[in-house]
Amino acid sequence: MSDSEGMDGLRVTACERCADLVDSRSRIVNGVGPDDADVVFVGEGPGANEDEQGEPFVGRSGDVLDDALDTHGLRRRDVRITNCVRCRPPENRDPSETELANCRPYLERELELVDPEVVVALGKVPAQHLLERSVAVTTEAGTVETVAVGDARLDVLVCVHPAATLYDRSQEDTFASAIEKVATIVGAEGGQSSLGDF
Ligand code: SF4
Repeated sequence: MSDSEGMDGLRVTACERCADLVDSRSRIVNGVGPDDADVVFVGEGPGANEDEQGEPFVGRSGDVLDDALDTHGLRRRDVRITNCVRCRPPENRDPSETELANCRPYLERELELVDPEVVVALGKVPAQHLLERSVAVTTEAGTVETVAVGDARLDVLVCVHPAATLYDRSQEDTFASAIEKVATIVGAEGGQSSLGDF
């Protein structure tokens, strides 16, 4: 890993590689969840809620994700959630190719260290970033491709962004099916109960 020296474990504590994002962010939003999670969800970047709270996928998108996890026997506290870029782009624009490249060493390092069974790309930007090709997210949702991520080889599952289900109800089944496949991959399908904790 050549360019992740600014990390403290899985966290980036200080970074000013992207001038526009340094101006627009309130804070660096690092990934959350266990450092040995079986599943890592990767989003595009922090939005307003995430920038404010310092955690990926909070607000309405986070609620959609949490509900889907719960439905399929997964729990948010058992999965890791991170982003392609860790700082909020101005006016919620897509991160530029340069910004994605700037932040990629951190994402690669995080994925190498966690070494999950499956990485879930939530939406077009993370899918294309991780698979390094053009992706038609809706038609490819639920498909898995093994790719090189830094020094690791990881299985990446394409998924529509949870927010897509809020704007287009026809995406609900596509999203649910992809999360169901994640649960099947990690053996959680069937509504594994937290009762086992007691
Ligand atoms: S997006 Fe990533 S590379 Fe860019 S300033 Fe933030 S932490 Fe640094």
